[in-house]
Amino acid sequence: MDLGIKGRKAIVCAASKGLGKACAMKLAEAGVELVINSRTKEAIEATATEITKATGVKVVAVACDITTPEGRKEVLEVAGNVDILVNNAGGPPPGNFRDWGIDDWQKAVNANMLTPIELIKATVDGMIDRKFGRIVNITSGAVKAPISYLGLSNGARAGLTGFVAGVARETVRHNVTINGLLPGPFATDRLYGNLRLQAEKAGRTFEDYAAEQASKNPAGRFGEPDEFGATCAFMCSVHAGFMTGQNILLDGGSFPGTL
Ligand code: NAP
Repeated sequence: MDLGIKGRKAIVCAASKGLGKACAMKLAEAGVELVINSRTKEAIEATATEITKATGVKVVAVACDITTPEGRKEVLEVAGNVDILVNNAGGPPPGNFRDWGIDDWQKAVNANMLTPIELIKATVDGMIDRKFGRIVNITSGAVKAPISYLGLSNGARAGLTGFVAGVARETVRHNVTINGLLPGPFATDRLYGNLRLQAEKAGRTFEDYAAEQASKNPAGRFGEPDEFGATCAFMCSVHAGFMTGQNILLDGGSFPGTL
């Protein structure tokens, strides 16, 4: 399917690896020019080179922390007018809410709620003026089915989701959509890092524990980042102009509800 976005311009945040990188790659395959970002210079530059080699599109790498005002300013200045924004950042750490202070909450809310809101604020009016815009917020399956030890994530991402639910209904009449893309377990370094910790706690080997967790998913496996990236690219396509304020869960069927 032609996604109809060849020649469009996108910012993909937190994209040197994992889900952000997969979204960037699939947008590039659709012919979208990219500004990609993450904190580690070598890693983001290597990813930009890899995507350009694979697709032939122009990819500019910006090494900075997207959760800081300076980082966002740099990315926005390099990118100029954009048609597509994929919001992403590292997730907050797991733990017990009794151990978290205001500072922990402020960090989580800053990274996973206020940062995407600031980037939406900076880009959405230009999209409205140009009558095309697609914004995808990478959040988490925990928005729909909270995981108690990920309380910081549950709280901050629910805040973003609530904000978007309102604004997404205002922008859609200008062909600017805003949606959430909710990963369940995807085979990335972040998932493997969490599984390694849980395996250690349970006194199990990583391989054994990870295989058991994967087999518990209705799909019998973890998701592949490519699958996530392809869904993101569709949500950014011309075909998805009637989809806004939605939260698309990709979890292999783990969430047990009918709707
Ligand atoms: P990942 O494989 O660890 O990749 C994270 C990427 O984000 C890296 O490129 C990292 O590069 C970059 N990054 C992290 N913090 C950043 C910051 N402050 N500024 C700019 N770049 C930053 O993680 P992932 O699995 O793709 O996860 C992406 C998001 O989805 C996270 O918020 C995660 O919590 C959420 N999620 C993932 C899963 C899953 O199963 N994978 C499930 C639910 C939710 P640098 O470290 O160099 O900055």
